[in-house]
Amino acid sequence: MPRYFIWTIGCQMNKAESQQIAGYLDSAGYQAATSFSHADLVVLNTCVVRESAENKVLGTLGLLKGLKDKHPNLEILVTGCFVNSHTQELRRRFPHVDLLFKPGDYPELVAWGQKQGIPIAQNLLHYPRTEAVMTCPPCALIPIIQGCDNFCSYCIVPYRRGREVSRPAQEIVCEVKELAKRGTKEVTLVGQNVNSYGHDLPGHPDLADLLSELSNIDGLARIRFLTNHPRDMSLKLIETMASMNKVCEHLELPAQSGDNDILKAMRREYTVERYRELVYTIRRNIPQISLSTDIVVGFPGETEEQFEHSLSLIKEMRFDVVHVAAYSPRSGTVAWREYQDNIPAEVKKERVNKIEELQTAIASEINSELQGKEVGVLVEGRKGGKWFGRTRSNKLVFFEDAGDWLGQLVMVRIEKTSPWSLGGQVKITN
Ligand code: SF4
Repeated sequence: MPRYFIWTIGCQMNKAESQQIAGYLDSAGYQAATSFSHADLVVLNTCVVRESAENKVLGTLGLLKGLKDKHPNLEILVTGCFVNSHTQELRRRFPHVDLLFKPGDYPELVAWGQKQGIPIAQNLLHYPRTEAVMTCPPCALIPIIQGCDNFCSYCIVPYRRGREVSRPAQEIVCEVKELAKRGTKEVTLVGQNVNSYGHDLPGHPDLADLLSELSNIDGLARIRFLTNHPRDMSLKLIETMASMNKVCEHLELPAQSGDNDILKAMRREYTVERYRELVYTIRRNIPQISLSTDIVVGFPGETEEQFEHSLSLIKEMRFDVVHVAAYSPRSGTVAWREYQDNIPAEVKKERVNKIEELQTAIASEINSELQGKEVGVLVEGRKGGKWFGRTRSNKLVFFEDAGDWLGQLVMVRIEKTSPWSLGGQVKITN
């Protein structure tokens, strides 16, 4: 039986698409391998959002060239944001790659598979994973929209993934129904900007409509979605979240900066005031909401005072999680073309550290409030001899127990808290 290995870096979208590709290969009779060197077919699902990620892709392509020299029958497929519109040029640079296909371009993958004599399951393009896998993971990622129309000045994604294309709602509902029938309890709907879901579909259904449909699926216990663009987060969506039991109290809402001039230079199309108002509206409607955000520090020209505005926003909003990154210019973007990367690396590092220090203190306080409380956890697997899973608010929880809890919704009494995770004792199953 031929074996495949999928190497994935980058965002949840890439992870979701790798699951789908795995489903396709499973259905074609391939078996998962544990490393490149044990595989007959390798898929690289790539990210180029930062220069360092692109370098990692280039390094891996180099490594695979060596492997292919030794094993000429090794098939190498490359997808993800590394594959841009200049595929001819990429083919010339990487002749050892057998197929380059753009993210989500399954017709291209299947056409290649057909040429290799790989059989195709019925409806493979629409439900690749569910056609293939008899038992499903407790939590699944479901891509609902490809691409991005926003063109934030620092971001390469729209140039690589193209404009927004939504998946038809019925197709998504069918996939989730199948997954739920086979044991999946939680789905996370993913896309670069899930808030603009549906604007390109007939009848313009939106994310709130999709959540309503998915909520009716028997066996499905939890629904999440990410990532949200603050500009596109509607009151209808917030009210729908608040009214639906299955939709988890958790949102990823990237602020990126706490300074209006920086937000303008980033082309984010909202102000700090609008962001703050949005968070208050969300908290009024969903008091238990847990919020994660992204902050970029050291954007070109960011003064100490402008950075302080980001710190103030974090203090005021008290996010559950803050992902902080130092700005790095990405060739091809507006910021790379128009602004000078003029904040020294050590200043960026200092700003990252300051935010991390502040957020560690905030998250530590927020999480310590759960000490002694019982929380519902969907068990996703084992790590370091312990079971782990997440609460509805996306808190990572560990517990030790000899039983088999995989895929179960359990109550855990929290005995230990840290800024990053919680630990406790399993109590009862739901
Ligand atoms: S919303 Fe902005 S940061 Fe997010 S993918 Fe689109 S362009 Fe990039």
